[in-house]
Amino acid sequence: MAERTLFQKIIDRDVPADIVYEDDQCIAFHDINPQAPTHILIVPRKPIPSVDEITEEDEPLIGHLFVVAKHLAEEEGLEHGYRTVFNCGDHGQQSVDHLHLHLLGGRQLSWPPG
Ligand code: 5GP
Repeated sequence: MAERTLFQKIIDRDVPADIVYEDDQCIAFHDINPQAPTHILIVPRKPIPSVDEITEEDEPLIGHLFVVAKHLAEEEGLEHGYRTVFNCGDHGQQSVDHLHLHLLGGRQLSWPPG
């Protein structure tokens, strides 16, 4: 069996996390090394390694992650805006090979991201 990713271990409750939301499709928890006052990771239960491995059948799931992000942004009071990010691969500086949507907000973010 393939080695479980860190985020799979969080989903399985084998690694603790500060979980803020979950449903049958995804789980959301605070990033351990927050880059903004709000930094939440929204992770599908389906172990898709990265954006590169998303298929057409995942389209409703990916849309769902954004709907969850919007609701969490509202709960977090991010009325001035926020950023949603999927890092992908080496150049995208993805470090955990289980798809996750970053929700960042609570301060003025800059662009380009560096
Ligand atoms: P990536 O770099 O793959 O886009 O994002 C992975 C994120 O996972 C990083 O922002 C990192 O801080 C976060 N992270 C790494 N290890 C842990 C952990 O054990 N718990 C939590 N909650 N977040 C983690």
